[in-house]
Amino acid sequence: MNVPAASPVPALAPPGGTAPQPRPGIAALPSYSRSAAKSRVRWIASSNETPAPPSPAVQAAITAAGAGANRYPSLAGDQLVAAVAARLGLDAGQVVAGAGSLALLQLLLTVYTGPGDEVVYAWRSYEAYPILTGVAGATAVEIPLAPGARHDLPAMAAALTPAARAVIVCSPNNPTGTVVRHDDLLRFLQQVPPHVLVILDEAYREFARPEHDAAALLADHPNLVILRTFSKAYGLAGLRAGYLAASADIAGMLRRAAPPFPLSLVTEAAAVAAWAEPARTARMVAGIVAERDRLAGELRHRGIPVPPSGGNFLWIPAGELALDLEAACLTHSVSVRAFAGDGVRVTIVGREASTAVLAAVDAVPGLAFPDLDRRPAAAGTE
Ligand SMILES: *Cc1c(COP(=O)(O)O)cnc(C)c1O
Repeated sequence: MNVPAASPVPALAPPGGTAPQPRPGIAALPSYSRSAAKSRVRWIASSNETPAPPSPAVQAAITAAGAGANRYPSLAGDQLVAAVAARLGLDAGQVVAGAGSLALLQLLLTVYTGPGDEVVYAWRSYEAYPILTGVAGATAVEIPLAPGARHDLPAMAAALTPAARAVIVCSPNNPTGTVVRHDDLLRFLQQVPPHVLVILDEAYREFARPEHDAAALLADHPNLVILRTFSKAYGLAGLRAGYLAASADIAGMLRRAAPPFPLSLVTEAAAVAAWAEPARTARMVAGIVAERDRLAGELRHRGIPVPPSGGNFLWIPAGELALDLEAACLTHSVSVRAFAGDGVRVTIVGREASTAVLAAVDAVPGLAFPDLDRRPAAAGTE
């Protein structure tokens, strides 16, 4: 057979101009908000980090691991996976480690959802959900929070169309702090069809000090996936470590799709060391929880309906005054996270910062509706 003469390369008409184009929808995704003005404030209460640096044991583990950084880390965060699985009473095959729970959520949504699929979640909730749903190419279905800034689980269950592939439950909910009760979660799990993933994002679970561990539900609910992180109660936001617990089938599928070496050597060593200090973590959590509940009481005393929070933060439903409150907090040297027209999320970082937040609240006219006798006369006109 004759080899056909090479034909000239046809000039392909680029579909979207001359530059490389991302998949449809990517360019239109919202961006993550940056916390403003961290360097100019005395208290950083905008990112739900813990205020204390890592413990001496964790810092020693970081240093020691760094000395071996010429070597690759374990393939899948094996040591951390084993430690987590042992404490949770799970098989190591049910736990997946990742560079933060956000990376695991992206992996999960990318593997299990795509164009034409729906991902249902409450709104307002974590700003990553619309972005990661969009990255997967799926369609977001946002269900408004019920009064009291709680998840409306009956409405979320009712919103599951045949196109639904996943539903995200954020408990405690970022940014409103509300917790989904264990029996409500159970009822919800019974309503969701078994082919739909139920993704329970428990980034703040330690601060809610729950009686029940949702990991115990995995045996009866193979469509449940639990996301947790070392960024909040364990104080390692800067190192990026999280984990996911699921059925062995789902965990295995995610491991298959994930890039290898998700945790750096340093990250894995730090997370293992932090995991080995539960008493220290519990003490830190107890301090934050006590200050959270004290500040919530002060705010409610001013007539602000702060929902009960299970996180290391409080939600101030400031509505149209949200940006004013953020500005007032900055004036009082605290950075907070404002959601325009909706509210302000304040991370609990200590008593002095809370005092500054209260001063800021008192400085925003019309925000507090206090028992007037308690309020300094000038506060509304500052
Ligand atoms: C902070 C947070 C996370 C944690 O993200 P990492 O990637 O683990 O740092 C996950 N979900 C929610 C709701 C959060 O607020």
